[in-house]
Amino acid sequence: MSVACNTVKMADKNGDLSFFNQESTQWRDIPKEPIAYAPKKETIMLVGGLTILQDKLIETALHSIGENFVALPNPDFESFQKGKAFGNRGQCNPTYFTVGNLVKYLQNLRDEKGISAEEIVKKYVFVTAGGCGPCRFGMYITEYKKALRDAGLDGFRITSFEHDKGIFQESDEESLLNLSPTFFIALVKAILIGDILNLLGYKMRPYEIETGSTDKALETCRVIVSDAFEQKKNLTKALWSCRKILAEVKLNRLQPKAKVLVMGEFWAAMTEGDGNYNLHRFLEAEGAECIPQPVMNRLMLSIWEAERKLTKKDELAVETDKKVDFSSMKTRLLIKLAKAAVKTHFTIYAKAIGLHDYEIPNMEKLAALSEQYYTLDCEGGEGHLEVAHLIESVKDNLSHLTISVKPFGCMPSSAVSDGVQSLVTNRFPSANFLAIETSGEGAANFYSRVQMALFKAKQLAKEEFEALSLPEHTPEKVHNYLYQPHNAQAGTAAKLVKSLGNF
Ligand code: SF4
Repeated sequence: MSVACNTVKMADKNGDLSFFNQESTQWRDIPKEPIAYAPKKETIMLVGGLTILQDKLIETALHSIGENFVALPNPDFESFQKGKAFGNRGQCNPTYFTVGNLVKYLQNLRDEKGISAEEIVKKYVFVTAGGCGPCRFGMYITEYKKALRDAGLDGFRITSFEHDKGIFQESDEESLLNLSPTFFIALVKAILIGDILNLLGYKMRPYEIETGSTDKALETCRVIVSDAFEQKKNLTKALWSCRKILAEVKLNRLQPKAKVLVMGEFWAAMTEGDGNYNLHRFLEAEGAECIPQPVMNRLMLSIWEAERKLTKKDELAVETDKKVDFSSMKTRLLIKLAKAAVKTHFTIYAKAIGLHDYEIPNMEKLAALSEQYYTLDCEGGEGHLEVAHLIESVKDNLSHLTISVKPFGCMPSSAVSDGVQSLVTNRFPSANFLAIETSGEGAANFYSRVQMALFKAKQLAKEEFEALSLPEHTPEKVHNYLYQPHNAQAGTAAKLVKSLGNF
């Protein structure tokens, strides 16, 4: 029998011979050779992974505090293919899209811009949110390192802040990231303003009279806000000037359009590109109005989880007759301050630009809605929020269709969408709910399932609008329609007709 040169024959304890490869070792995520990295002031930080607008605003917000950040382009199908080529098998597709996107960007620097792989490794760092899972999220950083090593960029640095620790990060002198309150305040401001602009875009675009006018106005607003960040001008004033620009976009809101709540796994529901087959834009093209999930919802969930952990810790201390830890009181106070700051900034910015009818999610209400279906202690993915959003959507008639988007193989979201939501939809039979997977491929199947669910949603939007606006409906019929609890209007056009005081 021939034996490869790097293998030797050895005997096991029974004396049997087996093949043993001496060169195989466990994976180590440290570079094979020591690397002399560029000093901090010459280092370029790469970020990405939120919406297109937010990534760009984060870039300028962090520039404004002296940090050298560059936003990556939006991940596309090529990113996904690179992620699959260089990543491990069996990952969820946000991993493939985001890891592949970084590989694609760096390969482009090397091949198109002529920067050597050695220089890229020394000068660039990717910054991401980290965490311990409990799903694959906990393995993202290792995945990045593995893929980059296999792509010829061994030793490329990935650094992270804990996504659930907010301003309470551990940072030291040596740390590449200056995780100061200033850093987080700039970051959160950019995220909140990005959320507000995105929410306005989704409310306006379906009703615009001139195609593309909303996006054009939003881009002007982005430039104004970026300029305000860079020049350290008043952001509220900048948003006030955006308000005038948005007000010039001509809209016809008297079009009965199906309202579709898009939720699900954080990245899959939020991304705006091939990562979810451009779901939001597809829905708009099919005549729907989307209700997206702002990043702020995830922020509020993290704050709520942190508060809950502290409460449980204190309760345990009381039960076991241990002294209540007074340092936790300080943390609790800081969390409350952080929560108040997020809410206040969001409200001020939203009012300044003219986003009036948006309610910051009430985390206690959402927890109460979902508690009997899904444990509040499970923190993977969106935790109990998916269940809560569906129930809230039915009870408060927020949408005509709720879509839960989840990446193929997503552990937390599959358990919720395929398992728990079947009980919810049984108990709330009027729910028009579609749980759908994204795999990076198979767009035709995805679109046709969305179209089928959307058909019913469009009918519902039309019916509620006609009940209010058609002259042949007698006042009695309209009254009966309106005041049955399940018949309150979800659609923008119907709400508008009702608010005009016709009924
Ligand atoms: S929530 Fe799902 S898709 Fe997101 S990282 Fe975890 S396993 Fe992957």
